[in-house]
Formats: sequence, structure tokens, C-alpha cells
Amino acid sequence: MKSTDALISTIKEAPNDAQIISHQLMIRAGLISRLASGLYSYLPMGLKIVQKVEKIVREEMNKSKALEVLMPIAHPAELWQESKRWEEYGPELLRFKDRHDRDFCFGPTHEEVITDIAKQYLRSYKQLPINFYQIQTKFRDEIRPRFGVMRSREFIMKDAYSFHINEKSLGETYKVMHQTYCNIFDRIGFDYRPVLADSGTIGGDSSHEFHVLADSGEDAICFSDGSDYAANIDRAETLPQETPKSPKENLELVETPGVKTINDVCDLLKIKPVNSIKTLIIEAEDDSLIAIVLRGDHELNEVKASKISGIKKPLRMAEEENVKQQLGCSFGSIGVVNLDIPIIVDYAAASLSDFVCGANINDKHYVGVNWKRDTKKITPRDLRNVIAGDPSPDGKGKLEIKRGIEVGHIFQLGTKYSDSMNANVIGEDGRAVNMNMGCYGIGVTRIVAASIEQNYDDRGIIFPESIAPFQLVIVPINYNKSSRVKALADELYKDCLAQGIDVLLDDRKERPGIMFADSELLGIPHRFVLSDTHADNGKVEYKSRKEAEKVEVDFKLAVNFILDKLE
Ligand code: ATP
Ligand code: MG
Repeated sequence: MKSTDALISTIKEAPNDAQIISHQLMIRAGLISRLASGLYSYLPMGLKIVQKVEKIVREEMNKSKALEVLMPIAHPAELWQESKRWEEYGPELLRFKDRHDRDFCFGPTHEEVITDIAKQYLRSYKQLPINFYQIQTKFRDEIRPRFGVMRSREFIMKDAYSFHINEKSLGETYKVMHQTYCNIFDRIGFDYRPVLADSGTIGGDSSHEFHVLADSGEDAICFSDGSDYAANIDRAETLPQETPKSPKENLELVETPGVKTINDVCDLLKIKPVNSIKTLIIEAEDDSLIAIVLRGDHELNEVKASKISGIKKPLRMAEEENVKQQLGCSFGSIGVVNLDIPIIVDYAAASLSDFVCGANINDKHYVGVNWKRDTKKITPRDLRNVIAGDPSPDGKGKLEIKRGIEVGHIFQLGTKYSDSMNANVIGEDGRAVNMNMGCYGIGVTRIVAASIEQNYDDRGIIFPESIAPFQLVIVPINYNKSSRVKALADELYKDCLAQGIDVLLDDRKERPGIMFADSELLGIPHRFVLSDTHADNGKVEYKSRKEAEKVEVDFKLAVNFILDKLE
């Protein structure tokens, strides 16, 4: 393509709302244009990148024998009512009515629609296993759309759904999808990790997320330094610790006027947060209260806490007024002595002795507190986020923590949807069985942003060849003044096109500095520069976007030189 036929709309300044580098650079490079919160248009150059990602995804999905389909974005409410998600999904599901006053929603994901299809078209175990996929627009009314297309409301996803006669077959396809995802992310050039993810009610190792490592990532993921264990923090387990030492101190009530936070209490009493506990009060299903206890320096893991039986879903902290009424003190003074509600204690807090906690009396704390001697019976369990240095749950090594961007998620669903929607086939023995299902998502548009988070410098994006808007840019100096330069540039351009190279010829009447800056901002991986001097000595200048060094290449060998680089 020639630049005069393209839309090159680079800008110097990023908008104020662009907090992360990929958002800034996508706007500055003119790849996307904001329409409203979480809604972006892809401009020609941006769409080209998205399509390159789609092509890789499609090729690898086809290789895995998945079958491409395309489902509607608008879904009738009845389907979602059948699966019960019309109620369960919450406000991320954007609902609307048609002209006949019938309820619809925009599809945030397509389990319901595909299960409906499977119900109609899959009749016998002989048709299984089968895996359907689509590359299609999703809508999720995200509570905080941010970071450009990284977390937008409308985005493109590749979603796949597989159907099986039994769990074993599901496990096999799951493995194939795991490998397919690795192939896709390898081709995109990511530094990524598959990690164990929360698998909801199914449990086991039945869900993995694929994370691109980047400091701007919204997720924390942990790895063992002694094995290949890797998991999302949501999911990483902590192990039970040794039983508490026997009490050395007496229980003593101390004045803590005006202190509210753990750090304030610890400063005042001159102790470390590791010798204190914090007590959180959550609501039970029947509106009664439950206490959750963590060591002072630890953080609650809400995914783990939401699995406590009998608690309200989604997890809800009790209102302070309610706590005051039932426990007789405000949040800052809650503790476990004389606390007459169920007490569920994280393993680490449960192994403390002689610790500090609130006294359930405003402005007072207890010191020298010991489980058993001073409290009612407690239930220890895993409730907190792991921290760096925790032992790996597989017993090998210690955990390290890094930030990740989730670009893919694979999940063994079991019979959740086929049970609720009654999707069965006739098995080998002639009896109907509900199908096992897997689902597999990739954030196509998020991939573009994630790639930029891993590949940029102060001049702009450094796209990997596999998804760059162009593989090569030819920058002729004085294209519109020197007929020699023009002739050579045109010849090189044609020869590159003939070899199937995705090349941009910058034929604009711009200063060289602008042309260089634009191609660098756009992240085009390879660049040729041609000038009258080069014409004189039969050379062309080559520079890789990744390296500072420039080299002179014989004009005649230029195409082969690039073909070598592209391999
Ligand atoms: P997240 O935890 O980031 O919200 P999710 O668990 O909701 O992701 P899935 O439902 O598994 O995501 O969707 C599959 C993929 O779609 C994700 O791995 C991610 O790459 C992408 N994705 C999800 N939400 C968004 C969004 N709001 N904007 C862009 N891509 C998204
Ligand atoms: Mg989400």
C-alpha cells in the first residue's frame, strides 16, 4: 500500500484518560478512535492488525479441527432464563426490549446460544466430540471500562465451545485447546504463561488462564521457583500452618483511643502487623453475620471467601450500622474475644499465639489473645491471597508474584449448561445423556493492546512481524522531487509486493523526519530508506525497528535480504 492511499493519522499527544502505554500508543498511532466510554472504532491501520490476529487464531483453531460458526449478538431473554443467568449475570449483561416489548440482551458470551444449537443439531454420541468457534463482537457493560481496548465494553472475542459424551473426551479436547492456545500465543510473539485459574464449582485443574506478563496487568499471578506450578492469585492455595504455640501472655484489655486501622493499632502498641489479626464481618444468606479473620498483614481473597457455605452471594461486607447493633462496636474495634457468631479463620491467623485484636468495645483492644483459651471454637481454612515467599502449594519451592494480562481462558464446564438447558444425545447404550462441555475464550482485541504493553520504546510501538500493520516500510527521500529515487522506490515496492511482502511505500510529500517518526510510532518492524546518494552507489539503507544500527544493502539484493529477515 502507498501512504497516500492509506489513512495515517498519527498524533503527538495522548489523551489525558489514557493511563497505560498501549492505550496512549494506539490513540497516538491512529489505530483506534474513541466513540464513548469503552467503545472504540478500529481505523484502517488498527483493523489490519486485528485481522492479522484473527487470521492466526482462525488458522490454529481450524488446525485443531474446531468448526467456525457465527452467532448473533442479540439474544432472546428466554435462553438466559433457561440457564438462570438472566438473574445471575448482574449488570454486565446489557438488556433491552424490542418493538414488541420482548426482552433481549447483548451477548457477553455464548454458552446459551451454542447449547441451544447443540440441542437441535447433535443427536447421537457418534457426532461427538465436536468443537464450535466464532470470532465475534461481545458486549459487557463493564463497571469500569478502562485502558482503551484492554477493558472495553464492546470487544472482539474468539469463543469456542466443545461437546462431549463424557468427561474423558472433554479432558482430551481441553488438552488440545491448551496446546492450540500455546501455538497462537507463540505465533503472536508473547512472553506469556498458562496459569491455573479459579474453576468455580467444577474444581480440580479444569481451568487455565493465559497471561501476558506486563507490569500494567490487572491480574496478579504466582509461580513457584521450585516447580512449574503457576496460578492466578485468585486460585493459588495457601497451606495449613503449624498449630499455635501455647500462651505466654495473659489476656489484657488496653485503651486504643481513636485508632481505626491495623497499622495505627500496631504503631500505638509497638507491635508488628504479623502479631495482630483483623476481623471482617460478612453477611450470611439468612442475613445473620459471620466473622472472617486474617492476620494483620494479609489480604482477603474474595474468590476463596465466596466459597464459604452459607454466605451471601456475591460476597458482601456487613453494614457498619448492622455491626454496631449486633456486636456493639464500630468496625475498627471488632475482635474475636467474646464474639458470638461463627468465626472462620485463615490458616496463618489460626496459627498465631499471644496476638492483638479489637475488643468489641469502641476504642479498646485486647493483647495476649490466644485461640482456644480466649475464643469460641474456630474453623481454620484458606482465605487469603498468597504473598511472595509463601510455600508453593505443590510443596516444591517458594512463590513469586508477577502481573499479567489475561488474553485467554479455557474452562471445563462439565454439564452445567446441558443440565439446565437439557442438551442431550443418545449414548452408545441407547440412553440419553447430557453432554459435557468445554469453553475456550481469547480476547482478540485485547491481544493487540497486550502486545504493545510488551513491545514499545520511547518512539512508539515495536510490533512483532506476525501482527504488524505492515512488515516493511520503504521511505524514499525526495520521492516527489527526484525521478531516480522515485523509480527505484517504485521498483523495490513492486518487487516486494510480488514476493508477498506486506509493504508500505511512504510516498507522501513529508519531511523524512516525519516519515521516520510515523513508521516508528506505528511499529513497522523493517525499514528501507532510499535517497539520491543510495541511488548513486546502488545501495539501500536498512534498519530494524528493534535495533539502533543501520546497514547498507545492495539494491539488487534488498528483496532477498528482507525475505531472509521475515523468516
Ligand atoms: P477479565 O477477568 O479480564 O474480566 P473474564 O474472565 O471476564 O476476563 P472471559 O469471560 O474468560 O474473561 O473472556 C475471554 C477473554 O476475553 C478474556 O481472556 C479476555 O482476553 C477477553 N476479555 C474479557 N473481557 C474483556 C473486556 N472487557 N475487554 C476486552 N477483552 C476482554
Ligand atoms: Mg470479566
